[in-house]
Amino acid sequence: MSNTRFQALQSVLNRTVPEIKAPSTKISDFYGANVFDKKKMKEYLSDDAYASVINSIEHGEPIHRDMAEQVASAMRAWAINKGATHYTHWFQPLTGSTAEKHDSFFEPTADGGAIERFSGDALAQQEPDASSFPSGGIRNTFEARGYTAWDPSSPAFLMGRTLCIPTVFVSYTGEALDYKVPLLKALTALDKAAVDVCHYFDKSIEKVNASLGIEQEYFLVDIALFNARPDLYVTGRTLFGHISAKNQQLEDHYFGSIPERVLAFMQDMETEALLLGIPLKTRHNEVAPSQFECAPIYEEINLAIDHNQLLMDLMDRVAKRHNFKVLLHEKPYAGINGSGKHNNWSMITNTGKNLLSPGKTPKNNLMFLTFFVNTIKAVYEHADLLRASIASVNNDHRLGANEAPPAIISIFLGSQLTEVLDEIETSRLSKKIKEENTLWQGIPKIPQILADNTDRNRTSPFAFTGNKFELRAVGSSANSASPMTVLNLIVADQLKKFKTDVDKLLKKGEKKDVALMITIKRYLKESRSIRFEGNGYSEDWEKEAETRGLSNIKTTPKALDVMITEKTAELFANTGVFTPREAHARHEILLESYYKKVQIEARVMGELANNVIIPAAIAYQSKLVENVKGLKDIGLDKSTYQAQLDIITKLSEHINFVKNNVEEMVQARKNINNNVEEVRQKAIDYDEKVRSYFQPIRYHVDKLEQLVDDSLWPLPKFRELLFFK
Ligand code: ADP
Ligand code: MG
Repeated sequence: MSNTRFQALQSVLNRTVPEIKAPSTKISDFYGANVFDKKKMKEYLSDDAYASVINSIEHGEPIHRDMAEQVASAMRAWAINKGATHYTHWFQPLTGSTAEKHDSFFEPTADGGAIERFSGDALAQQEPDASSFPSGGIRNTFEARGYTAWDPSSPAFLMGRTLCIPTVFVSYTGEALDYKVPLLKALTALDKAAVDVCHYFDKSIEKVNASLGIEQEYFLVDIALFNARPDLYVTGRTLFGHISAKNQQLEDHYFGSIPERVLAFMQDMETEALLLGIPLKTRHNEVAPSQFECAPIYEEINLAIDHNQLLMDLMDRVAKRHNFKVLLHEKPYAGINGSGKHNNWSMITNTGKNLLSPGKTPKNNLMFLTFFVNTIKAVYEHADLLRASIASVNNDHRLGANEAPPAIISIFLGSQLTEVLDEIETSRLSKKIKEENTLWQGIPKIPQILADNTDRNRTSPFAFTGNKFELRAVGSSANSASPMTVLNLIVADQLKKFKTDVDKLLKKGEKKDVALMITIKRYLKESRSIRFEGNGYSEDWEKEAETRGLSNIKTTPKALDVMITEKTAELFANTGVFTPREAHARHEILLESYYKKVQIEARVMGELANNVIIPAAIAYQSKLVENVKGLKDIGLDKSTYQAQLDIITKLSEHINFVKNNVEEMVQARKNINNNVEEVRQKAIDYDEKVRSYFQPIRYHVDKLEQLVDDSLWPLPKFRELLFFK
């Protein structure tokens, strides 16, 4: 076994840097070449069919069967032209990754020949064998049917020789089995609620879209080293490993130049992404060694999320060509920063106005304030649900670990806007103003800002950054659809309530601007406790948050409780996003995935400890024993081999600790498996009674790593994983 580590290190030394050539020096020459986008539709479709697809994209109207037939044959023609042989419905089941089932275009004909065919039906709907995807009890195996259905708002694309059609995934009984259906429903709710509120200001607005720009953090590790670490291979993170002497304390990686091998990977990955119409724009090193980030330009949210899912897949594929493995896990290495996925979110109208961008005139400012304050109020009302939407066993390592935002949801606005809001909250608003303009007395002018001016508070989970909010607590491997569904639906619900509140005042005869302002003022007061400008990593904040009544739920199983409360059920019903059955199913799936992941980690930990670590420690100990015996044989005094004796004793202490605790951990697992039925309790027990062994076992294994002869140590060490050439 010890050979694997050194063989891997040898392979790393022999790596060369491949030369990467983009299809053209001008990105615009090849951007989106592998996407059946609007431009290509126009070229391949009749005017009628084109109009029908556009109508469906923009207004969600169903596409008529005849038209679907036309679109399918156009897609096929385009794809076959580009060398495609297969097609697949591409969807996002609740496993967290993406799924595909490839079918060939080929169909035999009656006369014994064959044709390439792709029907409207095949485009519109497919029936993958759904029984192996999580459904949380929605779909019993006897009705194992699930359907994927075309989502025209996200364009089809070519991956290798396969035409991929983005789809939703629903059960036979119509319930959502994926991430996309609830997201699309939340977006519909937001569109409706936001347009209604926009009409207080501008009757010409017909549609509001949410926008999203996702910053993706990741680690790279050489594939040979990765393969030599069974824990990384199986669980995505290292379960053992003593922190290397040099890690991120010098903070020299962030501003350092990108290593050549990594740059080649990035260029290759960017080219592939750009061909798929993913507008990747930014690349840089991150804080931790071998950690990097990429970010596209923001897009309509459904597309942005599809693109991020696709990007994660693409990164993995391209990395293999470069003998790298991409680690998307939230916390691959203890003691070193983990990875997140900042979700930059705003709302934009069909007239091109960003509703979270402060305007030049008082009227525009009131419109900005309306959407701004409603977002704050929404997060205040449903902070726990937002927290639940980012909960996962992986993300539990980050939240509150002084590198990512704490598990307390709060909102950071920056000093300028805080001042503005404080002034509004305390300003005296005359209810009987005759002239509109006097309303604005006492209300500060909002600086036309901010983009460059907003403070960079990295410790806040939800920060306003000039013309968008940035949700920073999302885990790097997560599907952003989960938090974005929640964010959009809580804002939708809030805007609906806002409209009701304002309309009530209007009915009472209040002037419009006054009614808006009164409501905004009230919301500001009510939601005050969610606003926090200080250091989110500090202990003081934990205490203060508690006195403010903000929750601070540190582990996933309990954070998920809020998904099935009455308050949440009402919210889901108001916005039409989840039925109670769907909410319960999701809750169960998440709990199940939680304990199963802990279970897998515990197993890998036990196996590695027993079969790899302890044998290495014993091998070294035997060598020392031989040595001591030899020294004794030649008549030397005990003082000459005292050090050896000390090491032998220490090795035994650690070996015993590891062995005993692994046994206890296995027993704890068995107890739970045999005695705990209920899934929530199982998840909690796995956290409190199994996961609780991880740290102590690791501590002693890492001590062994420090003691054992380097040439006998079987697992690549942190310094080797993190600093590669
Ligand atoms: P950083 O937060 O690292 O300073 P940027 O400000 O450049 O990065 O933006 C990060 C992401 O936010 C990018 O994907 C960018 O396109 C996106 N973004 C910018 N404006 C908006 C907006 N109005 N709505 C949503 N995303 C946006
Ligand atoms: Mg950012």
